[in-house]
Amino acid sequence: MASAMDTPVQYLKGVGPRRAELYHKLGIDTVRQLLWHFPRSYVNFGDCAEIASTEGDQFCSIRAAVVRKSGEQRIRKGLSIFKVLVADDTGELTLVFYNTKYTAEALSIGEEYYFYGRIGGSGLRREMNTPQVFTLAEAERGALSPVYPLTAGLTSRIVAANIAQALELTAGELTDFLPGEIRLEYQLCELEFALCQIHRPKDAASAEIAKRRLIFDEFLILALALSSIRGKRSVEAGYRMEETDFSPFFDSLPFTPTGAQRRAIGQSCQDMRRDAPMNRLVQGDVGSGKTLVAAACCWYVWKNGFQSAMMAPTEILAMQHLDTLQKLLSPFGMRVEVLTASLPAAAKRKVRERLASGEIDLLVGTHAILSNGVEFRNLALVVTDEQHRFGVAQRVSLAQKGNQPHVLVMSATPIPRTLALMVYGDLDLSVIDELPPGRQPVLTYRVGSDKRERAYAFVRKHLDMGLQGYVVCPLIEQGEVDMGLKPAAQYAEELAAGPFSGYRVGLLHGRMKQAEKDRIMAEFKEGTLQLLVSTTVIEVGVDVPNAVIMMIENAERFGMSQLHQLRGRVGRGTQQSYCILLSDAKNPEARQRLGMMCKTGNGFEIAEFDLKLRGPGDFLGYRQHGLPQLAIADMAKDVGLLESAQRAAREILERQPDMSGYPLLREQVQRIVKNVGEQIN
Ligand code: ADP
Ligand code: MG
Repeated sequence: MASAMDTPVQYLKGVGPRRAELYHKLGIDTVRQLLWHFPRSYVNFGDCAEIASTEGDQFCSIRAAVVRKSGEQRIRKGLSIFKVLVADDTGELTLVFYNTKYTAEALSIGEEYYFYGRIGGSGLRREMNTPQVFTLAEAERGALSPVYPLTAGLTSRIVAANIAQALELTAGELTDFLPGEIRLEYQLCELEFALCQIHRPKDAASAEIAKRRLIFDEFLILALALSSIRGKRSVEAGYRMEETDFSPFFDSLPFTPTGAQRRAIGQSCQDMRRDAPMNRLVQGDVGSGKTLVAAACCWYVWKNGFQSAMMAPTEILAMQHLDTLQKLLSPFGMRVEVLTASLPAAAKRKVRERLASGEIDLLVGTHAILSNGVEFRNLALVVTDEQHRFGVAQRVSLAQKGNQPHVLVMSATPIPRTLALMVYGDLDLSVIDELPPGRQPVLTYRVGSDKRERAYAFVRKHLDMGLQGYVVCPLIEQGEVDMGLKPAAQYAEELAAGPFSGYRVGLLHGRMKQAEKDRIMAEFKEGTLQLLVSTTVIEVGVDVPNAVIMMIENAERFGMSQLHQLRGRVGRGTQQSYCILLSDAKNPEARQRLGMMCKTGNGFEIAEFDLKLRGPGDFLGYRQHGLPQLAIADMAKDVGLLESAQRAAREILERQPDMSGYPLLREQVQRIVKNVGEQIN
């Protein structure tokens, strides 16, 4: 059924093909999409600043008259600016329009307008960049005027006018997709009210009410979509475990497990004795000893006569786990083997056969374990390490493997609980909030490249003491070299020939052959190599306690969680460890991030800070899986509403798993599910 909502924006009065093209750039093709294009903020014209009192970097609105207009200046191809001098009783200010000469040309000399934008320039030469312009008549109509995310050629004024049209066109046709009982229970306004008030608010309170409803919608639809993608959680466990005496395992360890490790092991094993399959996330900061929890669970499953699998995101990490787990578990007679993509075909076939016949008790590997043709005899437990590298898609294929295996997910990324619930669904959480005894925080410093020689000397001092270190470089794309960045290989050579001549320097990067990587890693573990120059391949999980110092080049190019992971490679023994962040970045946000890294070693604090700075986009491969960008909701700020929406999603699905009674809502949900499905297949 064709509805006014699906009308192309082009057919709105005053739009036409040219403007429709501009809307298309914003991802808006239909009236529906236009109505869901929300203001970024509102200008309050009752609250104008005097030009003399405006401050740099602040957004503000001013009321001023046009004094003089300069002609268009072409800066370079595709970029032109147009300057307009305006004044109020207190001072003058230059408006700078980039590629928006039409807006500037429409201004009349001597006429007064309201301008809204960010103040730049210096004290005496104030500027406002590409401001939004409102006539006095427009401003006086309502106290709050919406400010929209724009593209060149559109102004908030035009968008507001087109939206007013769209609202008129769809009036009476805006059927609310939210079930009435949910709306009442969570005290949300009706859709029509929300859309009218978000675009043309009567006052600030109405805008808030509208916003609350629209944020809720966005979370609810996302939660329903994710839950539909995950599928139903099975209620029947494929395999139930019996209680076992753990003392032989604990007694065999070279150290005493921490209380937090014992608790996580206890909780997981208890889960596996229940009727439903386990779905547990073990969250522990880098170095908290998650591998031991995995080992204990696999041991427990083996005692019960079943197989386990452990997945790691990289081959290096898989090989390291193989090593650790064999040391811990072979003495009991457990058969631990590995399957990775780089294994020769014959060896792979061998492993698959032994797996199917039950001659392997624990299989360690990369996601190759999930490939077709890998059959287990009785796979009862799947452990995935460093889950944030796996996304929604992998989770789905994992759940389809075997006969409802128990799932244990281990992550060092302290995903806020609400976000984890949203992405993974109903999972239980164990937190390892205790580090093994004797650990000292890693002392972290940010230094400019002028102190590079001193940093090298500091590293040498530690190598001379028989300790080891890392130098990490960002991954370099070709063509970036002239920006002062060096590929790891070239850099390693320079270090070995220069400041570290006479030391044993090794190189590790992602494009090396697996056998080569394994050899280098082994040499570093044994201490044959003293200094390892590496790209981020060592980011996750690598464990060499004798390595106590890390230098990170161009540190500003890494995300905070990534820096935290990298830094987690040192500070794993009892020695004081150091992390030196080399950076000449001037950008205040980058400096803030690095400053935070120096201040805290707490992964949770870092993740929260990062989430605030960058939004949730980069967590969990969120965007790459086709999940929509949130238009109005903010996972970090609107936590309360996120929780309510998730509760509502559960209520809806309990009442009606197929949502057939809510066709309009289902339609919205299906739109997202389809997108994600296209990414998975
Ligand atoms: P992560 O949680 O980062 O995966 P690992 O499992 O790699 O941490 O453990 C980090 C290091 O701490 C390893 O060298 C491991 O042997 C050691 N370790 C783990 N648990 C303990 C413990 N209870 N006491 C002492 N050392 C431990
Ligand atoms: Mg680990």
